[in-house]
Amino acid sequence: MSTLNGAKCKLCRREGMKLMLKGERCYLDKCAIETRNYAPGQHGANARRKKMVGGSYSEQMREKQKIKRIYGMRETQFRNFFVKATQMKGVTGEVFLQLLERRLDNIVYRMGFAPSRVTARQLVRHGHFSVNGKKVDVPSYQVNVGDSVSVCEKSKKVEIVQSALKSARRGTMPDWLNVDKVNLTGSIVSLPLRDQISTPVNEQLVVELYSK
Ligand code: SF4
Repeated sequence: MSTLNGAKCKLCRREGMKLMLKGERCYLDKCAIETRNYAPGQHGANARRKKMVGGSYSEQMREKQKIKRIYGMRETQFRNFFVKATQMKGVTGEVFLQLLERRLDNIVYRMGFAPSRVTARQLVRHGHFSVNGKKVDVPSYQVNVGDSVSVCEKSKKVEIVQSALKSARRGTMPDWLNVDKVNLTGSIVSLPLRDQISTPVNEQLVVELYSK
């Protein structure tokens, strides 16, 4: 648990980019990437970030860590998602990202019901969401095209959901999702194509890493 629950901003500083793990704070000037964009640790400020050779093992590992951290997953589960992707039709890297995007916690975040994936995961675990009318409290639950994801009736006034919805900073809704912000429900219109997934990652490096 230590990695996932540890200092989230340190993870961003380690990767040298915003992983958007803290919701609203990530959009403010006090974001650690804005104020201290150097590696964490005693010598972080003086150390230069290593330039990695394109396609090298270290670059592949770094990219894997980054994607895991963005989606808040552990190694075993992450790898299992990859294995599943290799068994499905399509381009493995794209299918892999689609599986990550179809996680219920990610969908809740993308729909704007939570300020970050971390918070979305907690809300799902606490039973605040239903899929097709049935309560689901498993963050990794795979949502399918046509499924509806809703805030449970008793949870509609939960402050964190309300404030996430009001936040004007979340940008535009992905066009593969449809959200009714009045009734706090949404659906998956289609699987996202690669260019509809805004996550700034190179999934091909993970494909190369796991294919060795
Ligand atoms: Fe990362 Fe957000 Fe912390 Fe900025 S505020 S360093 S984006 S977790």
